[in-house]
Amino acid sequence: MQPSERLSKIPPYLFAELERKIAAKKAAGVDVISLGIGDPDMATYPQVVAAVQQAVADAGTHQYPSNRGRDEFRQGVAKFYERRFGVQLDPETEVMPAIGAKECIFNLNLAFLDPGDVALASDPGYPVYTGGPTLVGSEAVLLPLKEDLGFAPDLDAVPAETLAKAKLLYFNYPNNPTGAVVPDGFFEKVVALCEAHDILAVSDMAYSETTYDGYVAPSFLATPGAKDVGVEVFSWSKGYNMTGWRAAAIVGNADALSAFWKLKSNIDSGLFEAIQLAAVRALEPDVDAEVAKQNAIYTRRRDLVVDALTAAGVKVQKPKGTIYIWAPIPAGFDSSAAYCEHVLEQAGVVISPGGSYGASGEGYFRISLTTPDDRLLEAVERIRKL
Ligand SMILES: *Cc1c(COP(=O)(O)O)cnc(C)c1O
Repeated sequence: MQPSERLSKIPPYLFAELERKIAAKKAAGVDVISLGIGDPDMATYPQVVAAVQQAVADAGTHQYPSNRGRDEFRQGVAKFYERRFGVQLDPETEVMPAIGAKECIFNLNLAFLDPGDVALASDPGYPVYTGGPTLVGSEAVLLPLKEDLGFAPDLDAVPAETLAKAKLLYFNYPNNPTGAVVPDGFFEKVVALCEAHDILAVSDMAYSETTYDGYVAPSFLATPGAKDVGVEVFSWSKGYNMTGWRAAAIVGNADALSAFWKLKSNIDSGLFEAIQLAAVRALEPDVDAEVAKQNAIYTRRRDLVVDALTAAGVKVQKPKGTIYIWAPIPAGFDSSAAYCEHVLEQAGVVISPGGSYGASGEGYFRISLTTPDDRLLEAVERIRKL
């Protein structure tokens, strides 16, 4: 049996590999603490659980869902976008459900790229921005996220021949893995670039609701002209503790959504309607308090980790959003992978090597805050002692 040529062109998914290593350590009796994957450890909010229980008991949700989404879903998301971001969306043409942001982002590659085309992706960045284009026979061109530009790519530095081939531009603020929030003026630059070169802008909003210290993340679509050139992928996974539910929405440019719908209706059969109904329940104003409580917990964990690392001499910033701490590896290690291997071997703590998010992530490691406080403290203490 010979897997496809295209499959040989991508590495194993980052966390698939990590899961294997953790299992081996645990089997050997090590008390492993995983600060690797960003998967919220707390339960989905009670209002949402109650909503899905009610929805699942209604036989009207049991058949094949429509790929376009139920009216309640499209209207609920549009209402939320207006209330939360000041963005007006036509529920008929500018909102659709997706089976998680990961599925959505992968499928955008199938919908918009041909061989020879380019997707502009960030380095470091979410692995699907690079694996996706490769799997569909196109190319991801990496734009380094520079700390002095606020971890935004230098769009002026993209060569003209690359822009001529580019069909997609991925960006993600609040940002995984760096924890950065969008620098002033970046969204406006994206609109200008995408307009000039006929590129579809894809704003990945996985962390829009996970922010701290009073920071409120804006939508790309609130930028003048953004809806003419772009879409936004909103996900319930991180902000609502719903990673297992596979709930996301793609919103924005109606032509792009129409292409995405055509593709999707040939690939999958949509998002379970009980989940669509529960997902929009999460967007009602009374759930905001749950999100705020959750963010207070992450703020406490963030401070605990940053203070411990700072005390250990690591130069690290307190992020205003996401569930990650992005910090430089100590001197004396050849690579972030070597440092993370060392931490796993000697301390039984899993952290993610920055280099696995792209070459510009080399020299950094990422800690996820999705572990209870006591385990998080213990892990940081073990790392400090090394
Ligand atoms: C977690 C994450 C996603 C995945 O979201 P799902 O809706 O669970 O598929 C997408 N983008 C980024 C940047 C993420 O960190």
